[in-house]
Amino acid sequence: MKPQLEELKCQRRGLMIVLSSPSGAGKTTLTRKLLEENPADIILSISATTRHPRPGEIEGIDYYFVSKTDFSRMIETDDLLEHARVFDHFYGTPRGPVEAALEGAKDVIFDVDWQGAQQLAQAAADDLVKIFVLPPSMVDLENRLKARAQDSAETIARRMAKSEAEISHWAEYDYVIVNADLDAAMNELRVIIMSERMKRKRQLWLGPFVRSLTQGG
Ligand code: 5GP
Repeated sequence: MKPQLEELKCQRRGLMIVLSSPSGAGKTTLTRKLLEENPADIILSISATTRHPRPGEIEGIDYYFVSKTDFSRMIETDDLLEHARVFDHFYGTPRGPVEAALEGAKDVIFDVDWQGAQQLAQAAADDLVKIFVLPPSMVDLENRLKARAQDSAETIARRMAKSEAEISHWAEYDYVIVNADLDAAMNELRVIIMSERMKRKRQLWLGPFVRSLTQGG
């Protein structure tokens, strides 16, 4: 392949990849592996929130922790792609890093639940690819939650109840991965992302390329 063609093929619009799942289905592991495999091509969207950091959470890595005043200002100045109130706190997706990434041919991955996915679909349906991760069984999901030593029995019971509500939204997603085996699930994820990147509408270089072909280039 001509080197020039390789350069042209970098001119694509990035994807917004939403990965949702019930807690314990492997979403965080899949997200981490995907980011490790694609350090130059995929970034993780970091949300802004008005809640206080939990022990171990780091500013700019887990969230941007902001005051309610700053959050209101971000809404007023249209700096958030979407935002929601969850219990007593506000959460939102900063618009700037997402738009810069998409224009720079990078994909952005969002670790949000079904409500966040719906909001992102309203804000940017054309750029969005929605993927839902299911566990192979509810027993398996519970075992994975129990294996996380840090969670109390009460937390596990609450998460299992929330899982069923989250799973009920599976049909709102473009793709569903049943995560029975991590390697197989990763392969499915790679194929989805590769196919979505290949879509004609995202291949901004194709128009000029075809024009050069037909004009004897
Ligand atoms: P937590 O406080 O446990 O980190 O998150 C609470 C909830 O807020 C989760 O359900 C999470 O999916 C949601 N959340 C986190 N960031 C965002 C965001 O940027 N937008 C929306 N709509 N929800 C978010």
